Amino acid sequence: MENLTEAFVELIRRASTDLPADVEAALRTARDREEAGSAAASTLTAILENVALARARSQPICQDTGTPIFHVRYPAGMSPGSLRAQAEAAVAEATRRAYLRPNAVDSLTGRNSGNNLGIGIPVFHFEEGAPEDPLEVALLLKGGGSENVSIQYSLPYEPLKAGRDLEGVRRVVLDAVHRAQGEGCAPGILGVCIGGDRGTGYTHAKMQLLRPLDDVNPVPELAALEERLLRECNELGVGPMGFGGKTTIFGVKIGAAHRLPACYFVTVAYMCWACRRARMEVKDGTVVYS
Ligand code: SF4
Repeated sequence: MENLTEAFVELIRRASTDLPADVEAALRTARDREEAGSAAASTLTAILENVALARARSQPICQDTGTPIFHVRYPAGMSPGSLRAQAEAAVAEATRRAYLRPNAVDSLTGRNSGNNLGIGIPVFHFEEGAPEDPLEVALLLKGGGSENVSIQYSLPYEPLKAGRDLEGVRRVVLDAVHRAQGEGCAPGILGVCIGGDRGTGYTHAKMQLLRPLDDVNPVPELAALEERLLRECNELGVGPMGFGGKTTIFGVKIGAAHRLPACYFVTVAYMCWACRRARMEVKDGTVVYS
């Protein structure tokens, strides 16, 4: 297998400096819906200027470049260990080139590793494909402020009268957005997982954040819930950065995982407006980014 370290560095550069087109378009639509001169409109204008500058200068969109989360689907026969080593080398190099801020802190000593490598960081998820499949890598940079307002509920949740059904899910997701107001850098995107366990709930919820904003959930009842929650979240009026306004959330993306009979977790992975995701596909030595 050829060495893909430089291809990984470019993937990281793109994720960190070039906001996806669908998210940028959502920012523009949100700005155009607000009254000119309002706090919401000014905030969104400043964000859009920042996005354009970051792209033009190849500099991070936000000072917090987040946790790098790699989803790797590799063809059978390729070594995931080697891919991991190359991705880690790329993370260190991307930090040296200032595409990433040194973000990995030893939780006991408080010491920053300086290169974004440490225990549990970056995060990797590997999946094996068929031998003839391309290598596919999706990268998500998950900022800390948005991570702080992510939340997991165990249903039934008495304070909201949220039972173990989709109405219960709806209630806790709205509660999560209400609680996050003023934090987490709205407008945000919600990745939601119904089910799983405490750990896989967050993994599946974050995977939802890789979906484009305009996709439609193939499960009709989840598609309907996503649409309803998007409307209702925006009716809360939290607005950009919590200043009030018509757009609080750009998208709600819901997945479901199997669970134990005793458990019914609903996990809400909150993603800020800086929804930095990028993909690359490698086949026969050719790298394609999207
Ligand atoms: S929450 Fe997002 S936009 Fe806000 S500081 Fe963190 S990474 Fe940046």
